[in-house]
Amino acid sequence: MSMLGCSCGKTIYDNTDHLPYKGHAIADTEWFELFDRISTEVAGYIRARVAGTERQWLSEYFRSDATMDDTELVHTIITRHLLHARIDIYQCPNCGRVHIERRDGSRLFERFTPDAAPHRDIFQK
Ligand SMILES: [Zn+2]
Repeated sequence: MSMLGCSCGKTIYDNTDHLPYKGHAIADTEWFELFDRISTEVAGYIRARVAGTERQWLSEYFRSDATMDDTELVHTIITRHLLHARIDIYQCPNCGRVHIERRDGSRLFERFTPDAAPHRDIFQK
């Protein structure tokens, strides 16, 4: 999503990282399975490395001759799973409405209006 229109008239932009009004969520029904899949793939790489079949594992996993260091590989495995599992959440900085992406692949959002005014920034610690 590069921009989203809020009912209050504000346009919410998503054209960079570290947006203070954006977050991500993962359905609880997928949470534990997600970490199981990540752990299984990282463990598979470790086993291949210990067995000396690291190149074959990398070739099968990436379907290419990609090479990368351990940190980059683990990062790639984790993000690969998280990016597919997560939904985006935006809070309008103007009115506080929370826009939650649907899981149906439509790229549409459900909107929720906060009870309190002024609204609390839900992503602020
Ligand atoms: Zn708004």
